[in-house]
Amino acid sequence: MTFTGRSTPTAVSFREALFGGLAADGGLYFPVETPDLAGLFAGWGGETSFREVGSAMARALLAPEVRPADAARIAERAFTFEPLLRRLDDHLLLLELFHGPSGAFKDFGARFLAAAMEAFLREDERIQILVATSGDTGGAVASAFHDGRGIDIVILYPSGRVSDLQERQLTTLGGNVHAVEVEGSFDDCQRLAKEAFRDRVLSRRLRLTSANSINVGRLLPQSFYYAWAATRLPAAATFCVPSGNFGNLVAGVYAWQWGLPVQGFLAATNANDEVPRYLQTGRFVPRASLPTISNAMDVGDPSNFERLARVFGGDWSRMAAMVRGCPISDEETRAEMRDTWQRHRLLVDPHTAVGIRATRRLLGSGDLEGEVIVLSTAHPGKFADTVREAVGVTPDLPPELARCLELPKHSTRISPRFGELSSFLLERFA
Ligand SMILES: *Cc1c(COP(=O)(O)O)cnc(C)c1O
Repeated sequence: MTFTGRSTPTAVSFREALFGGLAADGGLYFPVETPDLAGLFAGWGGETSFREVGSAMARALLAPEVRPADAARIAERAFTFEPLLRRLDDHLLLLELFHGPSGAFKDFGARFLAAAMEAFLREDERIQILVATSGDTGGAVASAFHDGRGIDIVILYPSGRVSDLQERQLTTLGGNVHAVEVEGSFDDCQRLAKEAFRDRVLSRRLRLTSANSINVGRLLPQSFYYAWAATRLPAAATFCVPSGNFGNLVAGVYAWQWGLPVQGFLAATNANDEVPRYLQTGRFVPRASLPTISNAMDVGDPSNFERLARVFGGDWSRMAAMVRGCPISDEETRAEMRDTWQRHRLLVDPHTAVGIRATRRLLGSGDLEGEVIVLSTAHPGKFADTVREAVGVTPDLPPELARCLELPKHSTRISPRFGELSSFLLERFA
């Protein structure tokens, strides 16, 4: 598979898109080819393991650039855990994607990206991954790159503005994971990272690379669990995707484009409802984001909307025929966490609750038929306070996270001045 930018017609390889992150025009990369994987999908059933699905799709998508054995090895190294499909009701299943090391679906993308980068590096090469995090996604990236050969990872986070658990996830791994605590805000962290990527001295002496969520190395593997789940059901289902930046939904739409039988998609959002509005009105109006209790979805201008629009040739009515939208308020999200607990004795995190609520609403009004698979994006223990306040029950932490709470914190504190970050990087890695 090859990729082009928004306004750069020359196609680049997977490898180039992986290490570059953004296209030469500064925008997203889009896949050029639409491979036909229908034959592959048709051969799978209830016994096919996630690893088999991941290996086969990686082989098919990365050929001919990556040798089949190498593509399979990347998937095998990345996916040390499995998704789980759990039936809740007659029409509703949960696709649990939080059984990886950081307790959220972002492990699938981050671990595949890390394994792919590692596979492409020569013995004598060394790169430095630089990421800024507001807390939530840093853990998946840190743990994905931990112990990676030829890779150092530097994580910038705002001091005192992330939760204790989030901070432990970044600061207890050690080894090649370097946590830098910035005395400032998340915006300061992002500004410092951007400045580092632009800096002449750093780019001459280091090999700084990003690992953003828009990287195609994170996007492609998210299509694998759609295929794994869909081929376990006898008929095409609807996927309900709790969405913020819309990477997860786009990956599902890609799988459908490649021949996966899917009835439709339901984009469930919180109050940040720009995409549901677009699906209603045909007008996309990005806004500043609003804070909600499902805060990993607080995105007012989702970057992957452009990828979604492109799949449908920019045609609103074609998109609206395949993708429906449904915004859910914080009040309804809390009510759903309570309902799911009362009906099923199951605790769900607020993001998953948004998806379940949207699905129940459309099933209830007769606007959806058949089976609906709701993507369950995080372990409830990652959002323990929100779950406890809504339900009155405290969820356990996922075991790997509980373990990191016991470990000592290691970080380097810097002021939000570029000179300090620059010296830190040069002293360690030049
Ligand atoms: C990132 C995230 C989302 C949103 O996924 P997008 O791909 O940005 O739409 C939903 N739930 C959780 C728990 C997340 O971490």
